[in-house]
Parts: sequence; C-alpha cells; structure tokens
Amino acid sequence: MPKQPSLFSSVVNCKCPRCRTGKVFKGSVLNPFEFSKTNDNCPHCGLKFEHETGFFWAAMYISYGFSTAVMIIFGVIAINADWSFKKILYILIPIVLVLTPFLFRYSRILLLYIFSPNRHFDKEYL
Ligand SMILES: [Zn+2]
Repeated sequence: MPKQPSLFSSVVNCKCPRCRTGKVFKGSVLNPFEFSKTNDNCPHCGLKFEHETGFFWAAMYISYGFSTAVMIIFGVIAINADWSFKKILYILIPIVLVLTPFLFRYSRILLLYIFSPNRHFDKEYL
C-alpha cells in the first residue's frame, strides 16, 4: 500500500482532499495563463471538485481574507518604516501581482479542504 500523504503536504501541493494524490489544478502556478485552470474531476480518484454550480465562487471570500491579511501586514510594515505613499504603491503592486496566483489557488484549496462536506481523506482512494 502506498504511503499516506500528510494533510499539510497535500494542502501545500494542491492535491485532492479525498485521495491526496491527484492534482486539483491543471497547470503550473507560475504560468499566468494557466494558474486558474482547475480540473473538473480528480485525475486519480475521480472526485468532482466543483460539486455544485458556482461552488468556487465562495473561494472569493477566502481570497478576500488572504488579501486583507497581506494588506494589513504590509500596512503595518509601511507605517513603521515611514514610507511615502508613492513608495508603498511601487512595492505593494508587484507584491499583489506575484501573490495573486497563490492566493487564488490556496483559497480554492482551503474551500475544498475545510468547507466541503463529505470530502475528507479516504484510504481506499490511495
Ligand atoms: Zn482524488
């Protein structure tokens, strides 16, 4: 029997919540044209990721929370460093652009892992 992947590594590597083996996303997170493409079903166990229409819209709320946390952390740093508004924009805009694919993906992953009923890990699908 294959080794059971840990919950942490499965979340970090964007794996299916049921088998922790199949990929949730099709392309690389570093590809700006493919980072958002999500598989309809798990390529390993066949779990349907978007189990109802518009399911992933709820990930926007998680993404909003992530973005707010980034802004608060950056705001505290900027205030303590006494940066000008122009400098804040020059630093913050690239940070947001770089983080966008990661925030997008991990908001969907958290939605799948935390807020999805009946999508817990099952050893039968390893
Ligand atoms: Zn799976």
